[in-house]
Amino acid sequence: RYTPKVILVTGAAGFIGANAVAWLLREHPDVQVVAYDAMTYAAHPQSLAMASRGAAARFFFVRGDVRDGDVFATVLDGAARDAQGRPIPAADTVWHLAAESHVDRSILGPGVFVDTNVIGTQRVLDAVRSARDAGRAVRLVHISTDEVYGSLGPGDAAFTEAHPLLPSSPYAASKAASDLLVQAWARTYGLDAVITRCSNNYGPFQFPEKLIPLMIVRAMAQQPLPVYGDGQQVRDWLYVEDHVSALWTVTRSGVAGGRVFNIGAHGERANLDVVRGILHALDRPESLIQHVQDRPAHDRRYAMDATALREATGWEARVPFQHGLEATIRWYRENAAWWKAVLPESQKAAEALYLKGAR
Ligand code: NAD
Repeated sequence: RYTPKVILVTGAAGFIGANAVAWLLREHPDVQVVAYDAMTYAAHPQSLAMASRGAAARFFFVRGDVRDGDVFATVLDGAARDAQGRPIPAADTVWHLAAESHVDRSILGPGVFVDTNVIGTQRVLDAVRSARDAGRAVRLVHISTDEVYGSLGPGDAAFTEAHPLLPSSPYAASKAASDLLVQAWARTYGLDAVITRCSNNYGPFQFPEKLIPLMIVRAMAQQPLPVYGDGQQVRDWLYVEDHVSALWTVTRSGVAGGRVFNIGAHGERANLDVVRGILHALDRPESLIQHVQDRPAHDRRYAMDATALREATGWEARVPFQHGLEATIRWYRENAAWWKAVLPESQKAAEALYLKGAR
């Protein structure tokens, strides 16, 4: 089994990244975490301070762009200092989460999705390759998404890793492209790399432009809740801590060669039911729901078959949807200052797409 000691998390100040940092520092006191993030609109300035509270001695942050391969390589090699001037430990593991991640924004402006998700991944791969060529083994976990598989019909079997890549949105296409780069670098250069594809995550620290936090903050403010089309799009929900524990399990497994593992929790739910559940939990009327014009090429259904991961490692999700949703709502209630700080920015894509149809 592989034992990571220093994990470099790209995109650490985003949703999954902040949860990954908090979980690693809490669950693994022998692990050090180096956070690398360009601090785009999707990063929250407070998330990393909150995630690393009480463990600052094992936590290092560098503001940097994954497209800037030289800077990234310096940080990977431990030849840089963190934002507080402390020397950074050389990483033995990379969790590559940095990406442009919002489908609606990718429809409005796809260019940066190709830049960060495709070119950025190539830079990360080349830095890992250089480290290996210099005699320093680094293990890469590339975090991808079920969206690379496209859409399922109502009666179709859930996606397995053998499903063809049929992305619908510019976001999904850029992620599929990055997955292929990782596989090619594993085969051509023998990189120690593995790819995980996860279903929709929810939980604390998620930017309130994504479905669940958007609906929570709007319901709390008694604002209308915009639901695309008939709201019968099905997503397979996974509590973010379950995702992070799966990343740890995959890292420890030592499986490499660019192999793909799906991650999911059999959490299929229609968007409309998720929205109703949020209104119910917050004691708000369903009359707040406002159906708006559907997103172009909106995938109808995602469902993940994570059997391969269970069989290889024994990993299974632990958090039932209802518990995860309650914990998430509680977190947004208790951390209003966090989401209020980013509310104007988070409404931008929503206003350009969702709310246009609502008016
Ligand atoms: P997010 O948008 O919340 O966070 C992305 C982070 O990456 C931000 O902090 C941002 O500042 C940073 N970033 C963006 N461009 C960068 C660049 N060029 N250089 C360095 N940092 C940059 O995204 P998330 O929801 O946390 O998703 C993280 C990863 O997980 C993504 O790769 C995404 O494709 C994947 N994923 C997400 C989900 C989900 O449901 N959220 C599901 C499956 C896979």
